[in-house]
Amino acid sequence: MDGTSKSDSWRADRDHFIHPYTDFTTFAETGSQVMSHGDAMMITDEDGRSYLDGIAGLWCVNLGHGRREIASAMGEQAARLGYFNTFGHSTNTPAALLARKLAERTPGDLNHVFFTTGGSTANDTAVRLAHYYFNRLGKPAKKKILSRHNGYHGSTYFAAALTGIHGIHYGFDRIAEDIVHHLSAADCFRRPDGMDEAQFCDFLVDEARYRIMQLGAENIAAFIAEPVMGAGGVLVAPEGYHRRMADLCRENDILYIADEVVTGFGRLGHWFASEDRFAHVPDILITAKGISSGYCPIGAAIFSDRIHEVISVPQGPGGVLTHGFTYSGHPVSCAAALKSIELYEQEDVFANVLDTGPYLQERLQGLTRHEIVGDVRGEQLMAGVELVANRASKTSFAPELAAAEIVFGRARELGVIVRPVGNTVIMSPPLIISREQVDKLVDALDQAIEDVSGQLLSQAAA
Ligand code: PMP
Repeated sequence: MDGTSKSDSWRADRDHFIHPYTDFTTFAETGSQVMSHGDAMMITDEDGRSYLDGIAGLWCVNLGHGRREIASAMGEQAARLGYFNTFGHSTNTPAALLARKLAERTPGDLNHVFFTTGGSTANDTAVRLAHYYFNRLGKPAKKKILSRHNGYHGSTYFAAALTGIHGIHYGFDRIAEDIVHHLSAADCFRRPDGMDEAQFCDFLVDEARYRIMQLGAENIAAFIAEPVMGAGGVLVAPEGYHRRMADLCRENDILYIADEVVTGFGRLGHWFASEDRFAHVPDILITAKGISSGYCPIGAAIFSDRIHEVISVPQGPGGVLTHGFTYSGHPVSCAAALKSIELYEQEDVFANVLDTGPYLQERLQGLTRHEIVGDVRGEQLMAGVELVANRASKTSFAPELAAAEIVFGRARELGVIVRPVGNTVIMSPPLIISREQVDKLVDALDQAIEDVSGQLLSQAAA
């Protein structure tokens, strides 16, 4: 495409912007859709086409688009103090108040906050400091990390190493293969034949126990898990799984890192899912995305008192903990997060999740009327619809058919944005969604699947 009829932004983008997670072939054919502005549940492109945002930007714009209160808080902070570092002994008011607020809102004794630039750097921080913690305790052999297939933990080199989604590693080098060990995904849809959910839970916990024995608990620092797997296909673990994994970790002196980048700040109807939904308190909790409702890049790794007691004892030259980012505790990002938290509280947003979330899940069950819908799953405002070429045998569509991508394209034509990952169509709308908007989202997806089913099935059979 020569792009002569396109905007200057479109051309600048095509010529110079290397997009994350983008297929260069289709990109070369179509370029980008330039998004222009947003209002509550709606997002509009530069040509004036509006869409219902069914994915909250990328699991993050929990309070919806165009929130003036957040923009004002950011603007005021930028005008007052746009940036100064927080290394050594300087701080800023939004960072300090946000750290206290997070300590109050996180469960148990998770009272100590390390600010990062997003989820990947928070996961890197968690692992780096977990290693440091065990070094300080005189257990330097504790280095290995248990993660899970299908888990997504980010794109920095180590966060990518933690990530267990196979396709993401294609063509890249894998580092730390001696350190990171992946356990089975808690994927109830694709659990071994003949197992019920309770047996599958036993199977997963037994597998972890066996792996710990094989590797030696004395060599394992931490286990990392998302409460509900997100980018891996919205996989909800069998009941009791997280609690039992947390007990297993505790018995073996292995730190439990809960990656709540997606599940934190209300997506499952609570501040955090670990304790309120899954009945355990992790040793390290990771958050990003919804913390600022996506308005500014920010993440945090939040540590327990027990870990803080150890890592805060001075050591080495100058007694300094030598870890940190230029933008740790960035005042504008922290102001956006503080304002977002205030709005979550004032507007009782999570109560809306507990109302519209079950409604979304219930309505989505209706999609099983389509032959290509193999599984509908999720919890509250986090949902996935897995497409299959054959429902009885659970046979997947070949990746080159891009089945979920085709459904996404048709849904977009119908005015709603969902997200294709592998063969699963994902939804994670802003938490302010109404029941009517849930209807609009599900009706459009239903229609999109209806419209493309025949074509996909005949291509699969060819
Ligand atoms: N963990 C999880 C569970 C995520 O979903 C993501 C991002 N989608 C990350 C970590 C990485 O966060 P970021 O892209 O902000 O680095």
